Amino acid sequence: MSGPRADRNVAVVGGGVAGPTLAVGLARSGYHVTIYEAHTRRVQDVGSFFNLAPLGRTVLEELGIDHVLESGTVCTGISFRNHKGRWLANNPETTTNIMRGELSAALREAAIDEGVELKREKRLSSLTEQPDGSWELSFADGSTAEADVVVGSDGVHSDVRRHALPRAPVPSYAGVIGSGGLSEVSERFEVDGTFHMTFGLRGFFGYQVISPGRILWFENHYESEERTFKELADLTDDEWMESLVERHRTDARELREIIRSAAGTVWRWPVYEVPQLEQWHRGTAMVIGDAAHAIQPHLGIGATLALEDAYELTAALRRQPEVTTAFAEFQADRRARVAEMCKQAQRMGSIMTPRHWWERMMRDLTLPMAIKKGIKRSEQGFGYRLHPWPPTSQAA
Ligand SMILES: Cc1cc2nc3c(=O)[nH]c(=O)nc-3n(C[C@H](O)[C@H](O)[C@H](O)COP(=O)(O)OP(=O)(O)OC[C@H]3O[C@@H](n4cnc5c(N)ncnc54)[C@H](O)[C@@H]3O)c2cc1C
Repeated sequence: MSGPRADRNVAVVGGGVAGPTLAVGLARSGYHVTIYEAHTRRVQDVGSFFNLAPLGRTVLEELGIDHVLESGTVCTGISFRNHKGRWLANNPETTTNIMRGELSAALREAAIDEGVELKREKRLSSLTEQPDGSWELSFADGSTAEADVVVGSDGVHSDVRRHALPRAPVPSYAGVIGSGGLSEVSERFEVDGTFHMTFGLRGFFGYQVISPGRILWFENHYESEERTFKELADLTDDEWMESLVERHRTDARELREIIRSAAGTVWRWPVYEVPQLEQWHRGTAMVIGDAAHAIQPHLGIGATLALEDAYELTAALRRQPEVTTAFAEFQADRRARVAEMCKQAQRMGSIMTPRHWWERMMRDLTLPMAIKKGIKRSEQGFGYRLHPWPPTSQAA
């Protein structure tokens, strides 16, 4: 499909991380963009916080919208300890912890500022390709819309993927339960700009003191039996907190103190993954972010990959006037990066809670070297680099 971009309507389904970032780039490149988001509220009270890796911030800086991170807290390093509290290693990368809902809300505002239309309470229920290659979108409220191009940034349980790529793999339970919250603690916890990670005996725990007496924390642990969102939500916060305290009974005492001091909701969710798709697009419909590759959470890289996708897809569409050619180029470019991150996330997951003492000992011995090697590799330029942003003249 070619033709002047201003005539091209792009429907972005899902206004989480990738969706509104893509919308900013496309609106600036001359497309007419509408975001369809299933949720109602401006700031979604969902999913606790995430840690954004340096490249996530770089994407936002490249697009000139890094102000969306203003509500976050910068971490100047990530420290790793074992269950006894023994320090193992430090990763000096600068990252940002930010509430998911706050980041999505700020990104959506940034998209609106670029002239993007945001339609809330629009849950995609079906997607049908028309004979001329355009798409009809139907929503759960009975309304419909049309678009020349559809991008599904609707997360791990993507409806765009289900309809546009019916043979794509379906999400499977990753065997991990995640949870997190905000705790109010005594001021003996120092605001030190560090994201503290602990390999607990039966779960992985991370926290940052974001201001005197306030801590953001998360916990991931393996559970082979799947529990649904509803089953987890049906437990009271107290029941959930007590189960976490029990899980970390033999770990450093501060972890139990942080969990017990949770103020407000303690979020919890089963983690699903989707192996990277063979094919990310059909015709002029494409999936990005978790919809294309929901990886295990152990590396804390999913949101950064989603932002990279949004940047790189826009850049490809600016380089290539033909949408389907740009889609093919984008997919070919992203495959290796995503595959490498999946591999690293799996590796990290495999050392999270080893069953045997000797596996733990090996992990504790080799982790400092592995982290040093990773830092050296990225310093030497072997890390991922974003494509240069194509000049506007090519995009007209
Ligand atoms: C336990 C856990 C911990 C994590 N920790 C980190 C971390 O520390 N760092 C990190 O980088 N990543 C982390 N991630 C991953 C990260 O959250 C995701 O990779 C990221 O949010 C993906 O962004 P996205 O835009 O693709 O999808 P999402 O952020 O999931 O956004 C999808 C959007 O689509 C909307 N939607 C869904 N269905 C429809 C529909 N049918 N119609 C319309 N809208 C719809 C949703 O409401 C949502 O707003 C973690 C994930 C888990 C599970």
